[in-house]
This record gives sequence, C-alpha cells and structure tokens, in this order.
Amino acid sequence: MRYPSVIAIDGPVASGKTTIGRELARRLGYAFVDTGVYYRAATIAALDSGTPLDDEAALTRLAQGLVVRLGDEGESVFLGGADVTSRLRDPDVDAGVSPVAKVPGVRRAMVAQQRSTAEGGDVVMVGRDIGTIVLPGAAKVYLDASPEERARRRFKELAGTDQARSETDVLRNLKMRDATDSGRADSPLRVAEDAHRFVTDGLEVADVVERVLVALGMEETE
Ligand code: C5P
Repeated sequence: MRYPSVIAIDGPVASGKTTIGRELARRLGYAFVDTGVYYRAATIAALDSGTPLDDEAALTRLAQGLVVRLGDEGESVFLGGADVTSRLRDPDVDAGVSPVAKVPGVRRAMVAQQRSTAEGGDVVMVGRDIGTIVLPGAAKVYLDASPEERARRRFKELAGTDQARSETDVLRNLKMRDATDSGRADSPLRVAEDAHRFVTDGLEVADVVERVLVALGMEETE
C-alpha cells in the first residue's frame, strides 16, 4: 500500500504533539515541522518591535514581512537572519502567542510559509489547524489529554531549564491558551472529521506512536 507522505498532528497545548510527531518522523524518515514556532517567532518580532499585541493591522503588516526559517532538522528557528531558538518558550512569548496567532492576517502569512515547507512531502507537521486548514489532504491525527496531565508534562519539560515556572502558572497559561485557540474565529482548534483521535493520559510515548502507526496503516515500517 501507499503510505501517507504528509501527516498532520493537531491538539491542544502539551498534548504530546511534538514528542509524538518527532518520534513518528524519526521512525518514518520524514521531516518534522512544529508550526507553533512560526507563531512564537512572530510574537518575538512583535515584542521586539514594540507592536501592541492587540493591534491587528500592525501585527498583520509585521507578519507579512517576516521570514521564519527552520534549521537543524527543525531544532533551530531563525527569524530573518537571527537565531531566536532560545527565546521561543520565554514566559512573555508564552503569554503573547495566542493573541498574536488569532489575528487572521498573521495566520495567512504563517500558513503560506508552512505550506511551502511541506511542499516536498515526507513530512510530519504539528499544530492546531494543520489537518483542518493548512494541509487538508494530509493523513490526520488529533492528540488530546486532560488539562492536569498536560500541565504536569509541560511542568516537567520546563523544570531545570531557565524557563521553569510553577505548576499553577503552567496550568493557568495552558488553560488561557486553550481557550483562545479554541474560541478564535479564524481556524479554531477542532478535530477534523477524518482525524484519528487519541487521548494519551497514562500512555507512554512508544504506545501512542504504535497506535498512530497502526491507525495510519504504517505499523510495519520498523
Ligand atoms: O504548539 P505551541 O504550544 O508551541 O503553539 C504556540 C501557540 O501558537 C498556540 O497556543 C497557538 O495559539 C498557536 N498555534 C496556532 N496554530 C498552529 C500552531 C500554533 O494557532 N498551527
């Protein structure tokens, strides 16, 4: 059978999209693209230029001039020529990214860049609207988990880094972003009709990857 060459993974904050997507891409020999970094890079540009995060026209103009580039197999992110990787998960970016990402003009500019990144195929792309808007022809996976489980995971991920914060702060930011991402008018987070949906509470990464591979008919790849 012909394997899907483009796989979309969507889901809320810290649902495991990046971990699962990265592992899936490794197993399949596909490129991995985390589209959250495009909106995070746009937020950094807005913060650095002093653009108010509620000024849709100014954010749109700013986004239209941005070039986001991924390096090191998606590990590094460049905004214009500057490496912004270490700033992507700073608290001010975490707080500002959902308001920036709900602006239609910002989305149009970022989606165009994401589509051109996926053009060659053999790619796992993760985000909020990949199956519904960015790559509607892709094989689709939707990952979910309870807010508490997701906050625990994100807290553990950040602990010991210079972006560490309390579990309460992590849960608050996660719920705030979920609400903005699901409630926005343009491309809200939702499950595509033909997506394979998994709730990952209590599951190991390897289990989820296995289940996804089976659902996509790709289980015999390794
Ligand atoms: O995935 P991550 O949590 O890094 O994404 C950061 C933010 O970027 C999300 O909270 C959401 O507001 C936005 N985003 C989006 N569409 C995507 C990916 C991310 O709106 N495809």
